[in-house]
Amino acid sequence: MYKKLFIPGPTHVREEILGAQTAPMIGHRSKDYSALQAAVSPKLKQLLYTEQPVFMYASSGTGLMEGSLRQGVQKRALVTVCGAFSERWYEIAVANGVPTDRLDVDLGKGFTPEMVDEALSKADYDVLTLTFNETATGVMNPVKEIAALVRQKYPDVLILVDAVSAMAGAKIEFDAWGIDVAFASSQKCFALPPGLAIAAVSERAFKRAEQIPNRGYYFDYLTMLKSYKKDQTPATPAISLIYALNRQLDDILAEGLENRWARHIEMANLVREWGRKHWALFADERFLSNTVTTVTNTREVSIADLNAELGKRGAQISNGYGTLKEKTFRIAHMGDLTVADIKWLLGEIDDILGL
Ligand code: PMP
Repeated sequence: MYKKLFIPGPTHVREEILGAQTAPMIGHRSKDYSALQAAVSPKLKQLLYTEQPVFMYASSGTGLMEGSLRQGVQKRALVTVCGAFSERWYEIAVANGVPTDRLDVDLGKGFTPEMVDEALSKADYDVLTLTFNETATGVMNPVKEIAALVRQKYPDVLILVDAVSAMAGAKIEFDAWGIDVAFASSQKCFALPPGLAIAAVSERAFKRAEQIPNRGYYFDYLTMLKSYKKDQTPATPAISLIYALNRQLDDILAEGLENRWARHIEMANLVREWGRKHWALFADERFLSNTVTTVTNTREVSIADLNAELGKRGAQISNGYGTLKEKTFRIAHMGDLTVADIKWLLGEIDDILGL
């Protein structure tokens, strides 16, 4: 049976978007392809409130974690870790031999500008990594406020932002906030199938990359930029996904960006109220995510059984991630899900569990 996905990626993809992928294939060095990329680029800039280039890679978001670290660090990186996905930054830094320190908080907590300030003051860092939305715990970090602090006190520190489960679901004012790289995967708030990574890159990040000879090949911003100026990519792009993205960006802009952010908050508020009433919220109230809510399983029900029952009714939620499995569960409210979808889902859970 078809299940509507309320998991934090891949998210529910509308029929129209699935259909947009089936447009006839074109050569990627053709004028038709350049016209497609030229149509998409300004819409991506609008989405991110930026004048900077926004690149599209045939990759998932993890590729940009590696690419942005390799092209960013000359001295030392400070990696903020608040869950399994932010920890990936650290693993990638180690795997690439990048000098790195980690700043940890307990699961369910996030970072404040003061915490980042104290940690950055301790060594000669030139990169800070942030995870906008820690999908494992349902924590949203105050990226705007942290970036303001960094831009004021640490002008040479590049701010690399994993916005994988936030971009297109929460406002990111790339230029005004002063961040240097922000990237996402297509299968989260963009509500597309997986396989495309989207990344905005600042002037500071381009300048840093110029000074790093061994910055890697596939994600190299400088070769990307050369091609981007001709509405091309150095390697073969994910053309079908870009067709779908083009259609989706039209729909996002037709909805209106402010309306889109507000819809995500409205859905989040519904899940939070329900979660507080029947269970408990896992994340610290100061850091609740607008795109996914992690609920503590205070009733000690079997989440696997609950999900099996939901499956019969055409929905799927997510078990807790890693060590949080069965102790928590996650309901995503991102992408093209609606307030009515969320109300329906919560009603089904109430019915199954007799809440
Ligand atoms: N960062 C975050 C915050 C994520 O949620 C995920 C995926 N769940 C990733 C990184 C990895 O993204 P991908 O699997 O698309 O590479």
